[in-house]
Amino acid sequence: MQAGQIKAIGAAFDMEWNASPCIIEDKIITLASDFTGHKKYNPYDGYGVYDGSRRKQPLYLKFASIDKNDHEAMRQFVSDFGFLGLITHMDNPSKQAHEYYSKVFEFIPDIQKEIHIMRSLVEMKKAIDEGIDPVVKSCLNVLMDETQDDTNIFWMQEKTSDKVNYALAALKIQQVINKYLKYTTPKIKYSVNKHLVHKTGDYFSGTWESKSLLSAMYTMFYLDLTLGKFYKVCENRNCGNWFDVSSNEDKKQNFCSPECASRERQRRYREEFKKKKDKKGE
Ligand SMILES: [Zn+2]
Repeated sequence: MQAGQIKAIGAAFDMEWNASPCIIEDKIITLASDFTGHKKYNPYDGYGVYDGSRRKQPLYLKFASIDKNDHEAMRQFVSDFGFLGLITHMDNPSKQAHEYYSKVFEFIPDIQKEIHIMRSLVEMKKAIDEGIDPVVKSCLNVLMDETQDDTNIFWMQEKTSDKVNYALAALKIQQVINKYLKYTTPKIKYSVNKHLVHKTGDYFSGTWESKSLLSAMYTMFYLDLTLGKFYKVCENRNCGNWFDVSSNEDKKQNFCSPECASRERQRRYREEFKKKKDKKGE
């Protein structure tokens, strides 16, 4: 896919989302009182954007990479990109509290759960592609616990089985992503021709709208899956970025950037050097 085509995808998603500095109070992420740094943005603007020759890490992978025990990282994500919009996804009754009080906070346990689900989906997809049974199995178990559906008995039988069923794992990916995609819908937009005369003109145009940031992230995940995008985790131990390795040339890469490659090379060199020095000292 060329850069121009990806730009067209971004433009097709007409979404405005709020991001403001946030604080943590008793496992609740809340808007900070001063509104400096408040911004409105379109989450899709960052999707498919190139940074040099590489496609930038999509937002959903940034979200999936958050350490769910690191509350500060979660707060930072919400400050930078806004609340997930969990109120839209009403299937969890605990989330209804948001609406009762106000719409400007989200509970850390709810965000942790969403990170866990997203990460399990991403890791399971990769493990299916690479044929890594134990990872497929453990991710599938997480997804069975964290996401409910009408066919729970069917999944529970699978949970106790020793065999890994790849088709079933892929089915779970399909089921979970479709659940979140419900909140992204097409919209028709009417633009008035400024001359208001009857001449041929495209008065109607189509866009897509996501009702939550979470649904927008799942839509990016959906686009990546259907466009056949593949990602790897950067081998720089301090980076952890996922980067696009869809092109044949990138498949051999182990680092997200030349900077990460050189940092890791230097670190390995220093470690080797230290090992040799320690050996001599014995
Ligand atoms: Zn990196």
